[in-house]
Amino acid sequence: MEICVIGAGYVGLASAAVLADFGHIVNCVDTNEEKIKQLKQGKVPIFEPGLSELISKNKSNLTFSSSISKHIKAASVIFIAVGTPSLPNGRTDLSYVFSVADEIAGAIDSYKTIITKSTVPPGTNEKIYQKLIDQGVIPELFHVVSNPEFLREGTAISDMVQPDKIVVGKMEGDHQSLPILKNIYRKINAPYIVTNLTGAEMIKYTSNAFLATKISFINEIARICEKYGVNIEDVKRGIGTDPRISPHYLSSGIGYGGSCFPKDVRSLEYSALDKDVTPLILQAVQEVNKTQVDLYIEKLSGLFYDLHERNITVLGISFKPNTDDTRYSPAVSLIARLSTLGCTVNAYDPQASLPFEVKDNVIQHADVDAAVFNADCVVIATDWDQFKELDWRNLKTLMKGDSILDARNCIDPQHIRQYGLRYIGVARP
Ligand code: NAD
Repeated sequence: MEICVIGAGYVGLASAAVLADFGHIVNCVDTNEEKIKQLKQGKVPIFEPGLSELISKNKSNLTFSSSISKHIKAASVIFIAVGTPSLPNGRTDLSYVFSVADEIAGAIDSYKTIITKSTVPPGTNEKIYQKLIDQGVIPELFHVVSNPEFLREGTAISDMVQPDKIVVGKMEGDHQSLPILKNIYRKINAPYIVTNLTGAEMIKYTSNAFLATKISFINEIARICEKYGVNIEDVKRGIGTDPRISPHYLSSGIGYGGSCFPKDVRSLEYSALDKDVTPLILQAVQEVNKTQVDLYIEKLSGLFYDLHERNITVLGISFKPNTDDTRYSPAVSLIARLSTLGCTVNAYDPQASLPFEVKDNVIQHADVDAAVFNADCVVIATDWDQFKELDWRNLKTLMKGDSILDARNCIDPQHIRQYGLRYIGVARP
């Protein structure tokens, strides 16, 4: 089966590599010519564990190109995996998705199954269908399918190969697409959840909104625990054993980030308000998340009379471990706030680079020792495994001060206290 994956980002590249590994002929296309140039040279422009190896293993049936319409014409199946960022008012920017729909409408000359992997607000897939019809494409030439992606950056490949479910939203009367999709995914052993186009869109948003809610919920509980001198880790263990709750997504810390949860919760709020539903929980989830960084700034301000001109080391830039993605990273928000407050920030991350806009008073170092040198305080902002295993005895000798602010509650307080360091977490008395 010849497949065209449109969009060579985190989702598009992982999808293209996995589909090629399943034995399909895959052309992954993108408008970003620089990205395509790198991919053609064998360089993978993002960090995702196992991705580079999977791409090079399948290079005989996986190609990269910026000739989009040529590959649309050649394929019988098209995956849309382009970005769906937030507009300033919270509405999803669908311009990339719709420009792909226009591209398909202009190129289509044989039957295509058009599968949307991008996360799109309720009603979007129906609009994609209508766009093609409005441009004169006959309905017999295509079907639109919603097949939202649930992979997590950092474990994208295994999430794609072993998903907990495959959600398929299809049009009424479409009896062709499900067998086609099952054939594409024939190596995957997972239950299919089949619904209509808008149902599949809502499943994706509900899933992300629910996970974001768990994170904001535990962060709010941690704020209460802190005031009562209760260890949040005990509370997490105490509730996490209940199968109705589960221990996942119950780690308190600096808040959720990344390219999905923030924009998707906002987008769902927008979709609700658009239909005169006030989404009170979604609004509270975002409010808690927005103010999490303040909590850590307050903790730092409590440590020093004046934060101005303090040397603060921030370990972690990416929004979570095992990715180089810094979109909506709470670590980046913290760094930006510290820089605005006049601190000198020395940052380190195993994979991520500081976004261009936060360069004032901020230096990114190539190793932890250099970042920690002369620090008044070290902040753990992303819970990379590397930071859980640091040589604190050595780091203490490099630091000027003795405070470690664990903004992910991810290191053992007893372990670092034995070196004369002061541990500050949230609700970890
Ligand atoms: P991304 O920003 O990493 O990649 C998107 C790519 O699409 C870019 O390379 C861009 O150049 C390309 N593009 C834009 N317009 C194009 C066009 N007209 N033709 C061809 N290429 C075009 O985005 P991503 O993180 O891979 O996310 C893609 C979609 O998947 C989004 O809707 C996102 O919400 C969803 N999603 C993301 C994740 C994740 O963890 N990143 C997980 C599940 C779902």
